[in-house]
Amino acid sequence: MRIVETCINCAACEPECPNGAISRDEAADIFVVEPALCTECVGAYDSPRCVEVCPVDCIVVDAAHAEPRAELQAKYARIHGL
Ligand code: SF4
Ligand code: SF4
Repeated sequence: MRIVETCINCAACEPECPNGAISRDEAADIFVVEPALCTECVGAYDSPRCVEVCPVDCIVVDAAHAEPRAELQAKYARIHGL
């Protein structure tokens, strides 16, 4: 997923990410998603948790980092040492 510039820095998404992929970008003054850690919540939830909790709908699919579901599942397993 990718956070766009309309992010209001509420921090609601950060603790919801099962992979620790979300952090505050102090320089840009918005929150950001680390693509290497985002599995679109595959492995943990049925749908992206960050999208569900964001009050301003500023989290979108990151087309530049699109991955098949099987790869997202494998990434989740790698991240969590499964
Ligand atoms: Fe984290 Fe899931 Fe959002 Fe990706 S989609 S950033 S894994 S909460
Ligand atoms: Fe930004 Fe949405 Fe995350 Fe709040 S929940 S910090 S508005 S991306």
